Amino acid sequence: MKTLQNLFEDGLRDIYYAEKRILEALPKMADAAAAEQATKAFRLHREQTEGQIGRLEQVFDLIGQKPSGKKCPAIDGILEEGDEILKEYADSPSLDAGLIAAAQAVEHYEMARYGTLATWAAQLGLDDAAALLDETLQEEKLTDDLLTQLAEEIANPEAVEAEG
Ligand code: FE
Ligand code: FE
Ligand code: FE
Repeated sequence: MKTLQNLFEDGLRDIYYAEKRILEALPKMADAAAAEQATKAFRLHREQTEGQIGRLEQVFDLIGQKPSGKKCPAIDGILEEGDEILKEYADSPSLDAGLIAAAQAVEHYEMARYGTLATWAAQLGLDDAAALLDETLQEEKLTDDLLTQLAEEIANPEAVEAEG
């Protein structure tokens, strides 16, 4: 019989795998971005991602488990799409707009997962775990907002202007 606790633990392993993949992908995006602000945003979020992995390790500790990842086909696919943008739009004025959109797809996946995990933790009575997961959820939401602002104010106008 599979319980909510099992779902919670599987979900933790899913996002732990995802965060590690994201940690590898962000420097590539930072290096590829044309606008300084985009590079900075990706670098900042890489640092935050290290902290988020640390929080997940604390959550594993709180439930008496060793941190471990479980392959997440969703994040693999989202990052693969990001790679396509990176290659197909290299040297194009719309590259940053595409990279930001790809990064926001990642943030939205993370928001979906952390939102659910924080709620499950709270309902399982794991208040400390819930607080840690919610902290990361808020960080992902802020990142998403920052990326929206970057797209609307910098990346998208630059791409439109280049069309002449
Ligand atoms: Fe994250
Ligand atoms: Fe997944
Ligand atoms: Fe994120």
